[in-house]
Amino acid sequence: MSIQVAGIAGIPLIKTGDSIAEILCEKTAFEDGDIVCIASTIVSKANGYLRALKDIEPSEDAVRISGLTKEDPRFIQGILDSSKDIIIEYPFILSEVPCGHVGVRAGVDNSNVEGENIIILPKDPMGDAAKLREQIKAICGKDVGVIITDTCGRAFRRGQCGTAIGWAGMTAIRDFRGDHDLFGLELEITEEAVVDEIAAFSNFIMGESNAGIPAVKFSGCGSWTGHDNLYFTKEEDFIRKAIHI
Ligand code: GDP
Ligand code: MN
Ligand code: MN
Repeated sequence: MSIQVAGIAGIPLIKTGDSIAEILCEKTAFEDGDIVCIASTIVSKANGYLRALKDIEPSEDAVRISGLTKEDPRFIQGILDSSKDIIIEYPFILSEVPCGHVGVRAGVDNSNVEGENIIILPKDPMGDAAKLREQIKAICGKDVGVIITDTCGRAFRRGQCGTAIGWAGMTAIRDFRGDHDLFGLELEITEEAVVDEIAAFSNFIMGESNAGIPAVKFSGCGSWTGHDNLYFTKEEDFIRKAIHI
């Protein structure tokens, strides 16, 4: 397998209402089978998922938690509003957002945003990925997989990685169960989270600061079979059961 990876250059600062699909098709030539990773930050900007801190009224809970984390209570309120379930409050908020993703501060960010605003994660990243895929097909006629990414911390290891929060045109997981290893042993457990692997490498190209590269194109990834059950159910998730407060 030989894969080509390229950051898509020349993308402007994204504003509410911009068509990301149109901008991408203007800046790069897609081929059938390409995969494009798009930073959630610009999907949120295009959707208008920005909140001005001055308009946020912190609740008692937000004030209490901000006393612990020493963060702006309005920022904390933005995180609480974006969360479906709070797993950890301190030393950082870890929560589940409505799409099933679990992240620190619910993925709420104040970097790469203009002014005193916070940016919240796309509310329906699976739907956004599907729409972007359809729009790209309509504009340039090519069948392109789409992965919406966010930079996330990880349990057990230092350092953040790109993670897939929405995808379309591929399954999240490549399922190796039932396959045989080099010595004929049947694999019973191995499911590979391919969308996260691709998201992580795209994040390496995007960087975290001022590179201005919010989209990365992969050519030559081929295809795989599997399923989309990327998130553990609460019953399956033993780590979450162990830490739930
Ligand atoms: P996140 O990982 O989705 O939270 O996004 P980041 O804030 O880490 O940004 C990822 C990449 O996109 C970095 O290279 C940023 O400089 C770039 N970026 C963020 N917003 C914009 C934008 O509106 N336009 C352009 N061209 N680049 C952006
Ligand atoms: Mn982010
Ligand atoms: Mn990032």
